[in-house]
Amino acid sequence: MYRILLSFFLFFSCLTQAQQTDYVDFKKATANISFGDLLSKEVKGTITYEFEILRDVDSVFVDAKRVKDISYVLDDEFKGQKYNGEQLIVKHKFKANSKHKLVITWRSMPEKALYFIDWEYIAGNRQIWTQGQGKYTSSWMPSFDDMNEKVIFNLNITFDKSYEVIANGNLVDKSVNGDNVTWHYAMKKPMSSYLVALAIGRYSKKTAYSQNGVFLDMYYYPADSDKFEPTYRYTKQIFDFLENEIGVRYPWENYKQIPVKDFLYAGMENTSATIFSDAFLIDKVAFVDKNYVNVNAHELAHQWFGDLVTETSGTHHWLQEGFATYYALLAERDVFGDAYYQYRLYEYAQELLDQDRAGASTALLNPKSSSTTFYKKGAWALTILREQVGDAAFKLGVKNYLRKHQFKNVETDDFIREVEKTSGKNLSEFVETWLKSDVYHYQLIEAYLIRNFKDYKAFLKLNCEQSKSKCQDYLKSSNNPFINAEVIRLLQGNITKSVFKLKTIKERQAIAQSLYNIPSELKSDYESLLQDESYETIEAALFSLWQNFPNDNKLYLKQTKGIQGFNDKNVRILWLTLALITEDFEPENNARYFEELTDYTNPIYGFEIRQKAFAYLNQIQACNEKCKTNLKQAAMHHNWQFSKFAKQLLKVEQN
Ligand SMILES: [Zn+2]
Repeated sequence: MYRILLSFFLFFSCLTQAQQTDYVDFKKATANISFGDLLSKEVKGTITYEFEILRDVDSVFVDAKRVKDISYVLDDEFKGQKYNGEQLIVKHKFKANSKHKLVITWRSMPEKALYFIDWEYIAGNRQIWTQGQGKYTSSWMPSFDDMNEKVIFNLNITFDKSYEVIANGNLVDKSVNGDNVTWHYAMKKPMSSYLVALAIGRYSKKTAYSQNGVFLDMYYYPADSDKFEPTYRYTKQIFDFLENEIGVRYPWENYKQIPVKDFLYAGMENTSATIFSDAFLIDKVAFVDKNYVNVNAHELAHQWFGDLVTETSGTHHWLQEGFATYYALLAERDVFGDAYYQYRLYEYAQELLDQDRAGASTALLNPKSSSTTFYKKGAWALTILREQVGDAAFKLGVKNYLRKHQFKNVETDDFIREVEKTSGKNLSEFVETWLKSDVYHYQLIEAYLIRNFKDYKAFLKLNCEQSKSKCQDYLKSSNNPFINAEVIRLLQGNITKSVFKLKTIKERQAIAQSLYNIPSELKSDYESLLQDESYETIEAALFSLWQNFPNDNKLYLKQTKGIQGFNDKNVRILWLTLALITEDFEPENNARYFEELTDYTNPIYGFEIRQKAFAYLNQIQACNEKCKTNLKQAAMHHNWQFSKFAKQLLKVEQN
C-alpha cells in the first residue's frame, strides 16, 4: 500500500511538474548581439548554447517570446526552425549523457524586457537597457524563462563606438571595427536568464575597490559629475559591510552600477550589473531626502540572495526580497546609525499594519502576496528569527545556506534547515507564525520594539489624537529626531512655538509638511524653513507660505528663484506654476516661464519631470496643444504607472 501510493505520487508529480531542467542541462551561452534600425527597435544575433542531456529525450526547447525570425543548427549539422511563438523546438533523438551545441540565429523587435530610449530625439538621452525580472529576457534573446535553468552567459555586443556598453561579468576584450566596437563580456559562473543585463548609453565611470579587491564600477552621465559623490556615497562601505555581515565572499567578477532614464523600478539586481533609475542621481542637498543608499544596499544584497541562490518559484520570493530588504536595513544601520535603523523597522511595521487594517494581510509563502509583505514582513521575519536563535547561529546558518546552495535554486526549507542545525532549535513555530500564517502579528512586533529599542516604550504609548498636550510635552524631552518627526506628523498641525526649537532637518521637514494653516505668531519661524538644505522642505514650505500669506508671495518667489530641486525638478516646477498664477509677478517673464513649464512635458525629459509638469499644468488649466500632444505620447509610455497617469489625465482634459 505504502509503495503503491508512493509510486502513484511520483507518477503524478512527473505529470504535473515535468520541467526541462529534469532532462537537460544548459551550461554555457555565447551570444553575438547587434542592432538593426534603432528607430524600429530591432535586435539580432546568434547565440550558441552548450548543453548536456540527462535523460533520453526526443526534443529540447529554448524560450523565445514573440521573436520575428528564428532558426537553429544543432551540432553543426541538423538545421531547423520549428517555432510556436514562445519556444524554439529542437527535435532530435537525444541520448542520456550526450553533449551538444546549438546555434540559434534570431531577430526580434521586443515590446518588453529590452527598451530603446530617445532614439527618435536628437536632444534626448539615447540609451538601450534591459529589465528581465517580471518581463521575459527571451523576448530579446533566446534564453530560459524558467529561473531553475542556470547558464554561464557570455555576451559580445557590437555598437556605435561613441557609446558605452555594459553587460554581466568581466569586460575581457574590446575590438574596434570602423565606427563600431564589439564589447566582449564573460562570466565564470551560471545564473538565471532573468538576470541577464545589457545597458548602452553615454556614460562616464569611476572605480573603487572593495576590501577584498573587487572592482566597483560606478557609472554616471558626463554632464552630472557634481552628482557622482552624493549619489554613490558609502558604496564601498556598504559593499564591505555586506560581505562581512553575510560572511560569504561576493560571488561575481566585479560590481557595476548603471543609472538609466525612465527605468521601470528603483533598481534591478542583474548579476554583477545593477541597473537603477537615474532619479537617484542626486546632488548633496537632495541626499538628505532622496539618496541611493537603500537601493544601493538592497540590489547589492540580491547579488547573494537572488542571484547566487535563486528561488525555485514565487512561493519562496521572500528568500529574495525579504533578505534584500533585511540586509539593506543592516547596511543602513552601519551608515546612518541605530536611531535611523530602528525607525525604519518601526515604519515597516506601520506599513504592514495599514495593510492589515485594509484586510490585505497574507502569508509570506503565498506567491500572490504584495510587495509590502514580501519586502517588509520578510525583513521583520528575519529580525524576529535572529533574536530567537541569536546572532551567531543566525549568521552561521545564513552562511551555510548560501555555501550549500550556491549557483543553484532554493526553497524556504533549505534556509530553515540550516538555521535549525546551527541553533539546535526547532523552528516550526516560527515558520507557522511568520511564514505560513496570513495573520500579521503586530503585537509581537510591538513587543520586539519595546524590548529592544529604549525610545519606543514611551513613544508607542502616546496617542496624539486623544491627547495633543502629551505629544507636545513628549517633544520637549525626546532627543530622537526620527521619532520626533513622526510625533509632529501625528499632531497634524497642532504645534506650538516651542516645536521650532527642534533643529534637525527631518524634524523641521515634518513641520513644513504638516502645518497647512500657519498661525501668524508662527509666521517668521515657518519662513525660516525656506532656508533649510532640503528640497522636500523647501517645496512644502514654499507652497504653504504662498497660500497662507498672499501679501508676501513675491518675496517667497524671489527667495526660491533658480532652485531646481530633485531630478524631477520638484521645486522648479512648483515655482514656475506659482510664478504664473501670482498677480503682477515679473509680467515681462510670464511667456518665458510658461514655455519652460510646458517644455518639461517633452519626452526628452524623464517621466518623473513630465508627470509633475502635466499635473501642475492641468491644475492651472493651461495644458496647451503642445502639452496635449506630449500627453498623448505619454499615454503610450513603457512605464505603466506613468502611462496610466497620462491616460487618466487625458480623460480629464477631454471632459
Ligand atoms: Zn529587490
